[in-house]
Amino acid sequence: MKAVVYIEKNYQTNKLRNVTVELAWKAYSLVKPHGGEVVGIFAGDKLPDDYEDLFKYGVDRVVYYKNDALSNLQSIALKHVLSNMVRSENPEIVLFGATHNGRDVAPLVASVLKTGLTADCTQLYIDEYKDKGKILFQVRPAFGGNILATIITPDNRPMMATVREGVMLLPEETVSKPLKVEEFRTEFNMEWIKNEFLEVVPKVSKVDFHSANIIVAGGAGVGCKENFKLLEQLAAVLGAEVGASRAAVDFGFTEKERQVGQTGSVVRPKLYIACGISGSIQHRAGMEESKKIIAINKDPNAPIFDIAHMGIVGDLKEIIPVMIKYLREEG
Ligand SMILES: Cc1cc2nc3c(=O)[nH]c(=O)nc-3n(C[C@H](O)[C@H](O)[C@H](O)COP(=O)(O)OP(=O)(O)OC[C@H]3O[C@@H](n4cnc5c(N)ncnc54)[C@H](O)[C@@H]3O)c2cc1C
Repeated sequence: MKAVVYIEKNYQTNKLRNVTVELAWKAYSLVKPHGGEVVGIFAGDKLPDDYEDLFKYGVDRVVYYKNDALSNLQSIALKHVLSNMVRSENPEIVLFGATHNGRDVAPLVASVLKTGLTADCTQLYIDEYKDKGKILFQVRPAFGGNILATIITPDNRPMMATVREGVMLLPEETVSKPLKVEEFRTEFNMEWIKNEFLEVVPKVSKVDFHSANIIVAGGAGVGCKENFKLLEQLAAVLGAEVGASRAAVDFGFTEKERQVGQTGSVVRPKLYIACGISGSIQHRAGMEESKKIIAINKDPNAPIFDIAHMGIVGDLKEIIPVMIKYLREEG
């Protein structure tokens, strides 16, 4: 069984996107038990500087198509080139990151290859299906996140899926594989270059969930923007990042980029402190894989306590100042 992973880079830094590394490892975990191969495909002006890291995360081969006309995101050109690359590999599975680029290009490639694509998968596994043998089961939230749908592509190949950054786990220990890099050649038509990039304005984000060991997140129960400062103070004492539920964002307590959950970021810190968050399925989708979860909620029956490792029942306006005082005094 062969899996292809689309290699995506950050155009500003020329470094691999985290999601590519996560998908490489996921692909390796999927096909390794079946003696399969993982191939990373890249099309662009130059390979990411750190592409060799992919071999530590299970990639057997990197195949790249180099063309300076692809120095930025050119969806139509990528559609043609990537479809040719996938065809030539003839894999069973193709994985794309659910990034802006992946969400744009993956459906175009799927339509050329006349196969199915499941977007934003939260789980992928291989199992037997009727007389079809081993196929890819693609799990994703559906109907507003109220159910989990398992989607299959039994008749067409490849079986394609996109996955958001942070959803798939990285291993504690990596593997060691020889570097195998191959150049791909294909016809290229300059008429495929449809986008003209006048200026690229990098998005400057204050929020860095990826490197945060601790996240202090607030929900509707925080009550108002003024109270949200309490969470920011707690986060400052702990050296933590600040997150939020969608309700807290909708109420204007904090910025949208801090939203955790199904339609926000997926996070896996060592410690997640959920303050005044009820624990809806959509919020849990973004944080329940955190190593330790502490929940502060005045309702002892709040669903967040079902997944919390430690629960504090009470008013966060009283509890958080005590925590801050203790941490400041005890260091
Ligand atoms: C398609 C779709 C996508 C969605 N995506 C997301 C998403 O990405 N992220 C997300 O978070 N939500 C998402 N939602 C919304 C989600 O369904 C919930 O509405 C939301 O998570 C609720 O946020 P909350 O827990 O902050 O608010 P509530 O559910 O209102 O809970 C507030 C909690 O605060 C507690 N509380 C109140 N006062 C205090 C106090 N003084 N001290 C301590 N506790 C207190 C209450 O007991 C309660 O449990 C989505 C919904 C849909 C339909």
